Amino acid sequence: MKSIQANNYFVHFNHNAYEALNKHLKENKYSNIFIIVDTQTNEYCLPKLLPVIETDLNIEIIEFEAGEANKNIETCIEIWKVLTELGADRKSLIINLGGGVVTDLGGFVASTFKRGLNFINIPTTLLSMVDASVGGKTGVDLGNLKNQIGVINVPEMVLIDTQYLETLPQTEMRSGLAEMLKHGLIYDASYWKQFLDLKSIDYADFDELIYRSVEIKNEIVIQDPTEKNIRKALNFGHTLGHAIESYFLESETKTTLLHGEAIAVGMILEGYISWQKGLLTESEYLEIKTAIKSIYDDVVFEENDIEPILELLIHDKKNEYGLIQFALIEGIGKIKINQSVENKLILSAFQDYKS
Ligand code: NAD
Repeated sequence: MKSIQANNYFVHFNHNAYEALNKHLKENKYSNIFIIVDTQTNEYCLPKLLPVIETDLNIEIIEFEAGEANKNIETCIEIWKVLTELGADRKSLIINLGGGVVTDLGGFVASTFKRGLNFINIPTTLLSMVDASVGGKTGVDLGNLKNQIGVINVPEMVLIDTQYLETLPQTEMRSGLAEMLKHGLIYDASYWKQFLDLKSIDYADFDELIYRSVEIKNEIVIQDPTEKNIRKALNFGHTLGHAIESYFLESETKTTLLHGEAIAVGMILEGYISWQKGLLTESEYLEIKTAIKSIYDDVVFEENDIEPILELLIHDKKNEYGLIQFALIEGIGKIKINQSVENKLILSAFQDYKS
């Protein structure tokens, strides 16, 4: 598999990945290496990585408790202290081995420690492979506010080895799959079609699909690095999806949804809105709804859930000048950004989702 050239760095795949890593270690005079992991990736992924690293340098492992709840500044402070105690200097290399929580947090820790250390990301979840691997976003949450603190900074390289997915739970695989479906819907109709025949979500069949997803996200980000234009396409399904995710997270009675589960509902709702606005045909919309519902369990919305979800839309990071902006699709594979949508239409999208 050919490496993908992202903004100032390469994404390398499978066996090429470790060749590139070892070449990089040989060509750069690092003083030592720190591998940041969470409790899960320490157990499942580190044993796969350590034997393939060829270096005489000292390698230290820094672990923190897995989970979004630990993606905060307190964890960063702990890691900055450990780095200091273990003698990290400007020539140290940080390798982030984990899902989006580890690569976001580890990227931020590296970007800010002593004004910036080199870092390499090795994503180990499907979501972090297809989504967090390009774009250069690093950061942490501030209380309930996701990704509120952070910087854009690119790694030296990203290494995608799909073997890590062997131990990833199916629910997490499904969560990452939602972003891949989105890539097809907004950019590549033939890629979308490949998911219509999906019999199971088996990582062993996913190499080519993951590659294409990274390629699509990269093509979009390169065209519009600062999110002024086409990059907004990546928000398809996310305007309502994020509001639903936050509402379920804050509710005391609801079970928390994984990111991709919420985005899957968001794509059906925003697909409905696209149809109602004349951008999709009815059969295109039904194809999307049927395909997504065949992969994800139905999320149950009570009548009194919808109003608070609509209120959350007002706080969406993507709003500009107080206007809620949707990225809709204009036929499968094509996007129409900056679309305002009245509440009445959003309400009927929820009604249709339930039907
Ligand atoms: P995560 O990092 O929390 O991983 C999910 C769970 O899987 C964790 O418990 C983790 O320990 C475990 N895990 C990771 N790899 C494993 C493996 N190979 N085998 C077994 N278990 C494994 O979550 P995620 O879904 O990867 O990422 C979500 C985060 O990514 C969010 O914080 C989100 O904001 C961020 N994100 C960032 C970007 C970006 O562009 N920077 C894009 C999308 C998402």
